[in-house]
Amino acid sequence: MRCPHCGAEDNHVVDSRMTEDGGAVRRRRHCRACDQRFTTYERAEQSGILVRKRDASLEPYERQKVLDGMRRALGSDVDGGTVRAAAERVEARLRQLGRRQVPSSAVGGEVLEALRSLSPPAAIRFASVHKQFTSVEDFRRELELAGEGEIPDATLRELADAPEPSDPGPP
Ligand SMILES: [Zn+2]
Repeated sequence: MRCPHCGAEDNHVVDSRMTEDGGAVRRRRHCRACDQRFTTYERAEQSGILVRKRDASLEPYERQKVLDGMRRALGSDVDGGTVRAAAERVEARLRQLGRRQVPSSAVGGEVLEALRSLSPPAAIRFASVHKQFTSVEDFRRELELAGEGEIPDATLRELADAPEPSDPGPP
């Protein structure tokens, strides 16, 4: 990042905070060459897809978040290029739905599908960690597909940390 005052590249971040709407990170930088300060904003690249969460709130689809989740689930079993390609396929499928808003469960479902083809245990890990994305049914299916057979409900609840507390829903 070049200093807008003198053009030097030797600067460092002195303060970093989220903007009020949470959509960007604002950084104050200090230029070591001219001793002046300037501000930069960092925003997520927009895919144009909005994810509808369980509480009905919307947030922009973040490919980095999906990629990180897949990487964590896969561990070092699968190389980075393969994970990125799989994450791109997830996004492409979501686009094919042709809707601007997709439920978070659809994102979770596509991720599970992609992970299952790479590593069934990773799909289970993802389903167990991302309960906000997936349902207990998804989780049960992953375990069954992985050959764990029928899972007793008690075990499932323990593993999946139970279904979401009952949603009061619209009045
Ligand atoms: Zn400068």
